[in-house]
Amino acid sequence: MPKTRKRSVVRKIPYARGFKNPKLKTSISAIGDLTQRPTNSNFIPKHYSQEGFSLIPEPTSVDDWLAQYNETGDTYQQFISGCPWFSTRRQPYLKQTFEPTGATILAKYPQGKIYLVPLGNFPVGKSPDISSLMEFTNHFFCCPVKVMSTLHLEFTKNNKVILVRPDSVKIQLTSRFHVKTGSFQLKVDSVLKELKELIPDDALCLIGFTMADLYETTPDLFVAGMAGGRNRVGVFSFCRYNPSVSFSQEHWYQLVEDVVSIREEEFKRIMLLRSCRLMVHEISHLFGLGHCIWFSCIMNGAGHLEEDFKQPMFLCPVDLRKLQSLFGFDVVSRYKRLGAFFRNNKMKEEESWIENRIVKIC
Ligand SMILES: [Zn+2]
Ligand SMILES: [Zn+2]
Repeated sequence: MPKTRKRSVVRKIPYARGFKNPKLKTSISAIGDLTQRPTNSNFIPKHYSQEGFSLIPEPTSVDDWLAQYNETGDTYQQFISGCPWFSTRRQPYLKQTFEPTGATILAKYPQGKIYLVPLGNFPVGKSPDISSLMEFTNHFFCCPVKVMSTLHLEFTKNNKVILVRPDSVKIQLTSRFHVKTGSFQLKVDSVLKELKELIPDDALCLIGFTMADLYETTPDLFVAGMAGGRNRVGVFSFCRYNPSVSFSQEHWYQLVEDVVSIREEEFKRIMLLRSCRLMVHEISHLFGLGHCIWFSCIMNGAGHLEEDFKQPMFLCPVDLRKLQSLFGFDVVSRYKRLGAFFRNNKMKEEESWIENRIVKIC
């Protein structure tokens, strides 16, 4: 998830110390042996062709993810051996029905759902559409998604932020406020602590999302979000995804609404695209997918917003195979549903990527 610091750009940007940039051959072998016995009935080897995918781009800024972090990346085989969702033992904190022999998450946890919970206001015209976020999440994972009632935020006279729980109990969150600008940020762990109390029994995970800005530690400009609670709960902010607002690289509280306004339709498209990408990237982390180093992929790490905005909306073949093994979906049907979503939301580039991909693998 992006966590921005003061940035400077230099010409030749080295990778983080120790990082080994995989060659094409290594990235292809990370997809795993496609001749192996299928793990579920929808597994079709040709769906995982690397044709059309490019290798992960080299860093162009010292704040790019791979310039900062020595990611090792999980191959498909490493993921299968290490991911707790494949265990024949119930995850200790899940209370729902469990079928140990099930091949996929939903076969093991037939009642399982992804829960989303909006936190605070989502001003019309300045926020992504919540039902579209739910729809995209549903198509991406091929898993039931439920949106819980909004958790309202209130402000006290001395600028503290109060979260109103569904039982109407009011909890003061840790936050910071800048008097001159009126800007505020919520401390991410204080939000996570409250979300953990709200996880329904049939939840596979619970994701809080908000238009409020978040921070983790005092020097942060912001954080896009964080997961916790044995990785079953996360909270993410779309605040910095507003394409008509510029943010200071120096001070967390300085943001400037651009003078040249962006067309309403374009605003909607960009805001939704960025928010959908963050949402499914972070939920994929909760399902055990780490950062991808194999190809250009929605699971690549992002060190700052510009890097985040350049990343694709799609899983590379390695991560597609991981997600397919978890959820057992039919790859082409999933692409078709995602394609319809992109068409309905005027995301032309993404729609045409899907169309080309379907032609290549069918
Ligand atoms: Zn990430
Ligand atoms: Zn990937």
